[in-house]
Formats: sequence, structure tokens, C-alpha cells
Amino acid sequence: MTRNMRYSRLFPKTLKETPHDEVSVNAKYLMRGGFIDKLMAGSYTLLPLGYRVVSKINDIIREEMNATGAQELLMPLLHPKEIWNETGRWDEAKEVMYQFEKNDKDFALSFTHEEIVMDLIRKHVTSYKDLPVAIYHFSTKFRNELRAKSGILRGREFMMKDLYSAHATEEDLMKYYWGVADAYLRIFKRVELDAIITEASGGVFTKEHTHEFQVASEVGEDTIYIADGWKHAKNDEVMSDEDRKAPGLKAIKSIEVGNIFPFGTAKYAERMGGYFTDKDGQRKPVWFASYGIGPTRLMGTLVELFHDDRGIIWPKSVAPYSVHLIVISDKQEVKSRADKVYEMLAAESVEVLYDDRDDVGPGQKFADADLIGIPVRLVVSQKTGEQVEWKRRNEEKTELLNVDKILNQLR
Ligand code: ATP
Ligand code: MG
Repeated sequence: MTRNMRYSRLFPKTLKETPHDEVSVNAKYLMRGGFIDKLMAGSYTLLPLGYRVVSKINDIIREEMNATGAQELLMPLLHPKEIWNETGRWDEAKEVMYQFEKNDKDFALSFTHEEIVMDLIRKHVTSYKDLPVAIYHFSTKFRNELRAKSGILRGREFMMKDLYSAHATEEDLMKYYWGVADAYLRIFKRVELDAIITEASGGVFTKEHTHEFQVASEVGEDTIYIADGWKHAKNDEVMSDEDRKAPGLKAIKSIEVGNIFPFGTAKYAERMGGYFTDKDGQRKPVWFASYGIGPTRLMGTLVELFHDDRGIIWPKSVAPYSVHLIVISDKQEVKSRADKVYEMLAAESVEVLYDDRDDVGPGQKFADADLIGIPVRLVVSQKTGEQVEWKRRNEEKTELLNVDKILNQLR
């Protein structure tokens, strides 16, 4: 990632108008701010600013995945029908899967990768000594989503980090599984979200219960319940009549930001021949699980949670830049001073977006800074003299500081 950017060079600029066909706050602000562009319903380009945010989210996820011992790879997105037939999901999941025929062969675009991973495992794992295996990738997923009304929260094409693990025993699987749950909680904490672990159904993935990571939000499409004495929340879809009578029951609207699935052995390993030879020479199916997080949905969730009527307020850890520097003046002397501040910050490895435009007035520059939502705004103008005006995006207070003080405050 480049460290610094002059706004005059950034592609593209903010939009004045809110796109008329977008109803969700996340898509409106992300589109107006120049983070995403919409190609069609459910299909968005991550523009340079948006790609920066998603890359920072991915870096956090990658760090936490690697810390569990998982290894990163990259799997194909174009899949042959045959592999999906091995588990019966070519038919079972055909509503959600984009399937098509080409040259008399049937293909699908990836909506997930369990079958592809199980194929790798049966080819490359023979003994208990090869286990456990934990592999993940970041890639595009394609899903025929019927309700594509939540902006980037529900794409038909979106980014996912999906991790898969295979183990010799159920104990080893569950130990790793809850380790990944902890890693997920750390990831969400690092982007300033409080995620609630929620029991849910497995849909087309498994008959077993799964665990979702839900973030409370009125715009969420899920309803979850918490009650006195429950260890985890429960998704509406798994609530029994008994559960609905629980003391202290409370309903919350929420956005699912992650989901982990303990599969066991039956659905994937046994059907696809994912076997290994155990210590005692016995042939056994691997214990399998998968774990997903949607980085693009996560970016949308952050916008839904952290904004005001002027624009986005990014958490520091994933903001596209740390500082939004603005120069106000057409005097060469002031411009040179701002250029110097830009260079000084850059020399100290501060990530700066520098609004150096001279065809745009201060009102527009301030409005753009608020819309884009970088945590700190700095202004150099005639008025600021040798100092620089400092303001945090989430505060109204401004102060005049010298560059040394600013560097200290940023550290
Ligand atoms: P949902 O219930 O919201 O449709 P899902 O349960 O089908 O999601 P999973 O298969 O569990 O989703 O996918 C793992 C993660 O990928 C989700 O927790 C979410 O963060 C993200 N995700 C799933 N579907 C989408 C989508 N259509 N657009 C963006 N992100 C998505
Ligand atoms: Mg899910």
C-alpha cells in the first residue's frame, strides 16, 4: 500500500449526489465518499479508498488467522459440477449457486469451498501425522442473493476470508474451533466491534448447529435472542418454544459478520473420501470445520455503526489514512507550508491524505473530509501561522499545534 496520497490525484473524487436507487446508509456513504462504485445490484467495485480499508481489515484477519497456525493459500473460483455432486450440493444449493454450461460441461462460480478443500485433503493427507491441517484464503464469493437491498452488506459478489480445518479427533477439532472463535472475537475487537457469539442453523452447510458472530444494529437482517443464564445468544431460526419462555429474554436486530461451522465427519469427509490412517493403523474420516468472515460486509457494518449526518467515522485500525491534511489558501507561501507539513508527516511514516486541490473551496474540503471520515483532520491556512489546526473526526474541538506535538499525538 502506498503510504500517502494527494487528493488531487486520487481516483475518484467524492460525489455530491446520493445515488437515488441506494437506500442503505453504508452504500450511500461509501459511494459518495469514493470508496465503492456500483456496477449492478449486489455488485460493487472496491475503489482505491475502499480497497485500502478492506486491505487493512484483511491484514488484521490474516494476523489472527496465522496466529492460530493456519496457512494462507488461494483456491479457484470456477468449479466443475462433478465435485459438487459428490456431496449432493449441486442440487441442494442450486438456489444460491451460479451454475452454467459451457462447451457441454457444467460449471459453478464458487459460493464456498468445502468441497474444494476436501479434495485437497484426500489427495494430500494420508496419515495422522499430516493432521491437523488449517488453510484459508481471501477470495470472491458469488451468491444468487434474492434480497440485495443492504448495500455492501449483501453482495451477489463479495469478499470472504474462509478458513477450513481437518483433524484426527473430535477433541482436536473442537479445541481448534474455540481457538478460532477467540481469534474472531479479537478481530472484531480490533475494528471496535462488539460481536455476540450466537447459535444458529447450518443452512446448506450442515445439519449441526453453528456459531455466528453478530453485531447489534437496527439495519441487521437477523434477529437474535439473549436470555439470563445463556452462554451464547440464539438466532431466531434455532429458537424452540421452550427457549421463548426463558427468563430475561431479549430480542436484538443484528448483522452477521462471521460464522463458524463444526461439521464432524459425515457430510464432507465420508462422502468425499477424506480419510487418514490413525496411529493404530485404522482408516478414519477427518474431522472437518469451516470458518467465514466477510471483509466487505465488515466494512459496511463499520459504516452503519460509525457515522453521523456528515459522513463516516472510521475506527483508527482500518481508516484509509490516519490523517486528512487540508490546505486553505491560494497564497504560494501557505501552500508551501502545507507541502512541508505533508512531507514531514510522510517522513515519519504517517499515512496522509493531502487535500492539495486549488480549484475547490474550504467548505467543500471540510465536507469531503467529514464524509471520508479519516480520524484526524489537519488544516494549514493563513490563520494557522507556523502551527497546524488539529481536529478529531469524532470531536468538535480544534486546537493549534506544532508538527512535533502532532507527531506525538499520532503515536
Ligand atoms: P447470511 O445469513 O447473511 O446470508 P450466510 O450465513 O449465508 O450469511 P456464511 O456462508 O456464513 O454467510 O458466510 C460467512 C460470512 O461471509 C458471513 O458471516 C458474512 O460476513 C459474509 N457474507 C455472507 N454472505 C454475504 C453477502 N451476500 N455479501 C457480503 N458478505 C456476505
Ligand atoms: Mg452464516
